[in-house]
Amino acid sequence: MSFFRRSPWILHYDGSSCNGCDIEVLACLTPLYDVERFGVVNTGNPKHADILLVTGSVNERNVEIVENLYRQMPDPKVVVAVGACACSGGIFARAYNVQGGIDRVVPVDVYVPGCAARPERIIDGVVQGIAALEGKRAAMAAGRRRGALRPQSGSQPAGAA
Ligand code: SF4
Repeated sequence: MSFFRRSPWILHYDGSSCNGCDIEVLACLTPLYDVERFGVVNTGNPKHADILLVTGSVNERNVEIVENLYRQMPDPKVVVAVGACACSGGIFARAYNVQGGIDRVVPVDVYVPGCAARPERIIDGVVQGIAALEGKRAAMAAGRRRGALRPQSGSQPAGAA
């Protein structure tokens, strides 16, 4: 994967899942799948994270937490919704307290379907997330370059008296 500039750090948040998808996320870290060999690190600090990986839906109690975690992450950042609940609310979508998928609160870059989502699909979703992250990183760098080349307001063009 040539777009692996550096190790992607992941923040895993369990919205209101049944823990089925969370067990599959943990399976990705076991020796069978061992995503850490690719440099993927599971961090507990949003300020260190590149990828917000969410399982479960948003509800009245966690909506502010999801927003808060997302806001604390530095740019560029991506969100991966893991499992049917995180994608759309899943089987709990019509529950009295459920508001829906994670995209009701934060922009989602990658949707990983399944109930529960399989580890292979989660890893594939993370790889897609890394690609999206690199795209955002390149866009930010291009924006900075354009900003550096643009004449500052009030500055004279070269050669002007
Ligand atoms: S998608 Fe299925 S396994 Fe995953 S949290 Fe929802 S109900 Fe549980």
